[in-house]
Amino acid sequence: MNAFSYSGQALFCEGVALAEIAARVGTPSYVYSSATILANFRAYDESFGDMPHTICYAVKANGNLAVLRLLAEAGAGFDIVSGGELFRVLQAGGAPSKVVFSGVGKTAAEIDDALAAGIFNFNCESEPELALIDALAHRRGTRARVALRVNPDVETDTHDYISTGKLAHKFGVDIAAAEGIYERARKHENLLIEGVSCHIGSLLLDPEPLMEAVDRVLALIDRLRALGSDIRHADLGGGLGVAYKPEETTPSIAEFVKCLRQRLTGRDLHVVLEPGRSIVAGAGVLLTKTLYRKNTGHKDFVIVDAAMNDLIRPALYNAYHEILPVRQNNSRRIRADVVGPVCETGDFLAHDREMADVMPGDVLAISTAGAYGFVQSSTYNARRRPAEVMVDGDLWRVVRERESYEDLIRGETI
Ligand SMILES: *Cc1c(COP(=O)(O)O)cnc(C)c1O
Repeated sequence: MNAFSYSGQALFCEGVALAEIAARVGTPSYVYSSATILANFRAYDESFGDMPHTICYAVKANGNLAVLRLLAEAGAGFDIVSGGELFRVLQAGGAPSKVVFSGVGKTAAEIDDALAAGIFNFNCESEPELALIDALAHRRGTRARVALRVNPDVETDTHDYISTGKLAHKFGVDIAAAEGIYERARKHENLLIEGVSCHIGSLLLDPEPLMEAVDRVLALIDRLRALGSDIRHADLGGGLGVAYKPEETTPSIAEFVKCLRQRLTGRDLHVVLEPGRSIVAGAGVLLTKTLYRKNTGHKDFVIVDAAMNDLIRPALYNAYHEILPVRQNNSRRIRADVVGPVCETGDFLAHDREMADVMPGDVLAISTAGAYGFVQSSTYNARRRPAEVMVDGDLWRVVRERESYEDLIRGETI
């Protein structure tokens, strides 16, 4: 679904004109469509039908409490990668019994907090980590459910920074070494080694590498079961991409799950998925106001009040985001760089973009900004992080206030 569309000249999110939010809350501000988030989650959940499954939303894509609450109420579990994300999930009312803890560098304190909360499963990435979880579970007099994150060594066609499934990457253990590790791990009396997990990268537009990884993981599960391991769940990670450019295509969530189901039917496995981007990316825009137009004699620039500190994806991954005027004032087009106020040449939102002819004061919507947007924001250049707004039908509310100058210096002393 696309909750962002024009009605007459005005761009709406569901039933709310984005110009109204910009006028009332100011810019830059993130705006999220609750209907889109729910529709995407339900597309995953319902496509599995009666196959046992848990959709663990990857909190790192967008951890706003209102987003987490919405998903928790819809029945989602959560994939966390830090103690801070566990804290967020618990604050939002998420069920600990549906939390999986991923990540290559879990600290003892984070593991202990997760044991105390009673999470479902740890996705372990090394033998020393297995030993640490075992020791901490022993101290608490409990048993921890774990899965080994295996690295299936498949090529993915995505940005190098977000590809994770090759042996050259820091993630998981080599799938070829996994059987030995499962055998050795049996000596840990405080572990329930009941799962296998993998996650090969993010923004995968072609599901083929993921299906190849799934086949390798399923073959491993067959071998482990033959050796006597009681493997009950397969966590197949996240990673389904979304179209950032109008001409890009991705499989729908329903088609993607259908491919997975074909492989998983009859295997007596509880499936876990960890989608992040595909649930929230298309549900969000970043609203920003045009400050100046400028021509250097070489190029046209549209200078806006959002910057790389608010949305770093263009600077970090050379990512493309559609930029739409919140009011279509005329049909003239320009070609320009859209840049923010931060003192870095890398501070851009678009390069050489054909776009609407905007004037100072005009508000723009940077599209598909609901994932890896606010969560990667910073206060660089002593800029306050933007507000976040949740839309629900004709209603909207601020779900995170714009930071204040006082917020910027909190905890500092002279
Ligand atoms: C980042 C991450 C995800 C989510 O990836 P998306 O591309 O946002 O779906 C899932 N699992 C793990 C382990 C991750 O690191």
